[in-house]
Formats: sequence, C-alpha cells, structure tokens
Amino acid sequence: MNIVDIILKKKDKIELKEEEIKYVVNSYVAGKIMDYQMSSLLMAICLNGMTDNEIINLTKYMMLSGDRMDLTELSPIVDKHSTGGIGDKTTMIIAPIVASCGVNVAKMSGKGLGFTGGTIDKLESIPGFQVKMTSEEFKNQIKEIGLAITSQTDNLVPADKKIYALRDVTGTVESIPLIASSIMSKKIASGTKNIVIDIKVGKGALIKDLDSAKKLANIMTTIAHNNDMRITCLLTNMDIPLGHNIGNSLEVEEVIDVLKNHIDTNLTKLCLELSTYMVKLGLNITYEEANKKVIDNFNNGNAYNKFLELVRHQKGDLTKLPKAKYNYVVKSNKEGYLTKLDALKLGKLSCSLGAGRLNKDDQIDYSVGIVLAKQINDYVKVGDPIFNIFANKEVKEIDGEIFAVTDTKIDDKIIYEII
Ligand code: URA
Repeated sequence: MNIVDIILKKKDKIELKEEEIKYVVNSYVAGKIMDYQMSSLLMAICLNGMTDNEIINLTKYMMLSGDRMDLTELSPIVDKHSTGGIGDKTTMIIAPIVASCGVNVAKMSGKGLGFTGGTIDKLESIPGFQVKMTSEEFKNQIKEIGLAITSQTDNLVPADKKIYALRDVTGTVESIPLIASSIMSKKIASGTKNIVIDIKVGKGALIKDLDSAKKLANIMTTIAHNNDMRITCLLTNMDIPLGHNIGNSLEVEEVIDVLKNHIDTNLTKLCLELSTYMVKLGLNITYEEANKKVIDNFNNGNAYNKFLELVRHQKGDLTKLPKAKYNYVVKSNKEGYLTKLDALKLGKLSCSLGAGRLNKDDQIDYSVGIVLAKQINDYVKVGDPIFNIFANKEVKEIDGEIFAVTDTKIDDKIIYEII
C-alpha cells in the first residue's frame, strides 16, 4: 500500500477501504507516514468528507492504536463529553450531581488548547489537586466515592494524540469525520458504555451551525450503536459563554456558586439537563424519574458534598485558590437589553490574559480571566458594569465589540435539540 495513492483517492472523492484506513493509522503512529503526507490527507478529508463506513473504520483503528480500559465492574456508569466552549465548566458540576444520584462517573478529561479551556487545567488551578492517576487508582476511587476525573493516560488512543496535534496546526480541526472519530475512539477505548455528548454550536464553538451539529450527532450515534454503546447528544448554544466566569480558578469559584449557592444561570440550567440525561442512561429510567433525582440531590446539598469529596480525594485545597492582582471593570455606554456577549472574543481575551495556551507547552496563569456581571437579555443602564477583567498585567485596550446593548431582547435558547 502507498500513502500517495491513498491521498489521491481521497482527493478524487473515492471511498477508502478498511485496509487502507488501517494502514494509514498504524503507519502514521509508527512514524512511517510523514507529517506532511498526513497533513495532506487530513486536508483532503476536511474538504471532501468521509462516508459513514470510512468514519467507522477510522474510529476503530484509532481506538485500537493503544490501551483499552474495561469498566464493566463499575456499573451503573456513565460518561459525558463536550466538544468544547467558553466558560464550559460543566464536568466539574455534572460529575458530582450524577454521582450523588447513584451513578458512577469515570471521566477522563483533556487540557485546553487555544481559546477553549480544558477541565484538567481548571482542576489544576486548585492547589494540590492531582489529575494523574493509574487506572487502578482511577477505578478504586470510583468504587469508593462514585467519581474520578483524571487526565488521559499516555497510551489511550496515541493515534488521536498525534493526529490532533497535527490538525491543530494545519487548519484541519473543524471537520466532522475527524471530530467524530477523535472523540468516539477515546470514548470506546476508555470503556464507556453510556455517554451523553454536549455538542456546542455557535461563535465560541468548533461547530458553527446547527446542520453540521446534527450531522456530527448522527454519525456519533451510528458509531456508538456499532460499538454497543448507548448515547444521547444535546445540541447547545455557544454563541454566548456558559455562566459568568471564564478562566481557570474563576471557573472553580463558579462551580462552588452553582453547587452550594444554586445560582440560576444558563450554566445551571444546562448542567441539570445534561445530568438528567446521564442519570436516565445510567439507571435506565424515564426522564421524569431521572430529573427528580437530579433536582433533589442538587437542592439538598448532596451534589455539593460530592464535589468536596472529589476535591479531598484528589488532594486539592479549595481555601487557596489563586487570585489575580488587577481588576478592570468594563461598563455599558448605552441603556437597553444586553443582547450580545461574544463568546469567541471573550475566550480570546481571557486567553490573552494568560488563562489559555496558544502552544502546547505554554504555562497557564490560573488566576486570570473574566467575570460577566450580566447575562444575556438583562436590562442595563449607562455606567452599569458588563464584565470584570482579572489580570496580572495592565490591560490598556480591548479589541473589537465584545458586547452590544439593543432595544429588544434576543432568543437565548440554551438547548437547541436532543438526538
Ligand atoms: N474534542 C476532541 O476530543 N476531538 C476533537 O476533534 C474535537 C473536540
């Protein structure tokens, strides 16, 4: 087999055979296909797409490229995955809620790259918090307290690690077949049998429109069913950030605000919905039964106590969250409804303060970020604060129009569709 022939086939929109996909994945992981050849193939996939069969085969051979975990002994068990967004701290809220409902949560999370954050960075902003665990420690903690959040082990889907790093620098991240195979290969390898996927749609997300989100949901559902997994996909709004806080330790503070003080924002609503679908899948019960369990355990403090238990078990100290030196307030110069809080621009601003990394090895400043003083459709007056910037350096200027105030409200739907 020859990689150039395979690239040409994909360029000419001819379906690749299973053997060819196997050859590509295995040879790339083994270093026998060069980055420039793989880049060319990835771009051809980006432009010409893949058939369902090709995506299923790509997922299979990526999944087979490394270790696999078996979590059947931990049943009932459920997992969640988000395609990534601004202010997305849902895992830290949902995992304790679901565990407090009696469903085990085994969560392997990633670090953030670019303007979207990663759960692992957010947890690492808690001094002492251990994100590295052996599979034995991971399973033991789940047996003991019902949940664990760990970084991915080095040999879980090495093909994805290599391909994702290349996609990141070759403009090939935003491809439905590549996103679907990347996420699902990791989920199958990590032993997940029940999964809820939060597909973010909008300005601050990888997927910009609802049609593409539906295509992604459909192909992930096909892959899941082919692998004996149960799956629910929620297509959710990422034109505006989730909740109030963007930036690592600021997001941990908001997690506490949601779980302990039950603040009511788009973030809280989304977390309760996602948790309900996870409990429904995990316990095989109706939506109504699952929702009641979720609301009860959220309201009676069990979910908050579960979060504290998680932090204690993974050796974090919430009393020592880092704080930034400077605070700048950005105010409204108009009266009316706040109808735009540009998720992408806010994410980029937060990243430029040091909350995210532009290169894989950049150091993160855990204390910096943005706190929104208002939510979409709030009525604001001239001089009202719209958001606060927390920084460790002087901020002289902010690029572009991050927010807008208009005379009428906009549609601020949180969940577009459930598939
Ligand atoms: N998350 C992943 O794990 N992979 C992608 O390709 C996109 C989001």
